[in-house]
Amino acid sequence: MDYVIAPPACPSVAVEGTAARFPVRRIFCVGRNYADHAREMGNDPDREPPFFFNKPADALVASGATVAYPTMTADFHYEAELVVALAGGGAGISPEAAPGLIFGHAAGNDLTRRDLQAEAKQLRRPWDMAKGFDASAVLGAIRPGPLADGAIRCTVNGTRRQAARLSDMIWPVPDIIAHLSRLVVLAPGDLIMTGTPAGVGALVTGDRCVVEIDGLAPATVTVG
Ligand code: MN
Repeated sequence: MDYVIAPPACPSVAVEGTAARFPVRRIFCVGRNYADHAREMGNDPDREPPFFFNKPADALVASGATVAYPTMTADFHYEAELVVALAGGGAGISPEAAPGLIFGHAAGNDLTRRDLQAEAKQLRRPWDMAKGFDASAVLGAIRPGPLADGAIRCTVNGTRRQAARLSDMIWPVPDIIAHLSRLVVLAPGDLIMTGTPAGVGALVTGDRCVVEIDGLAPATVTVG
């Protein structure tokens, strides 16, 4: 096929145990999926169904990268998250069928312009520029296969900032996939960032932020 300009490259993520990469179609993110984080942001975790926002696929940053402190913010936050990579898709997926669509899992960091997010909430505007900016999705290598419950941790310059269990999620992964598949037709290549526990906070230039999940490669980023 001929294009009028060069077609954009397909964003992709490293996969453990192979030189082949996981091609990324879309990045969906879950808001408020840990009760303690919902409370720290001023929300009632018991009353809210899961909701979603997106990051562009080319917002991906590989673990180990240095990212520039973003423009237009003075409150740049880390959010440690489990990321699910889909090898299958569909609409109206049941929670029982959802695990069969998962290719694997990765550690991720949902980098956020918290001040722009707060302003967007107050003005009832979209979150895109608070969440979906360039280099806002840090991902470690994907480990194929299922993932057992385990700890999720975030450290900044070696100091622990977030610590929880994956089983602390309000909506577990199969429920997230089921909910999301009622809103969009999910497809192979989709990533889902599944929300962050309490303890979010600011990064400054020079910080090294590491997200660790038991059984997965870390997602590390340095703010340059
Ligand atoms: Mn998040």
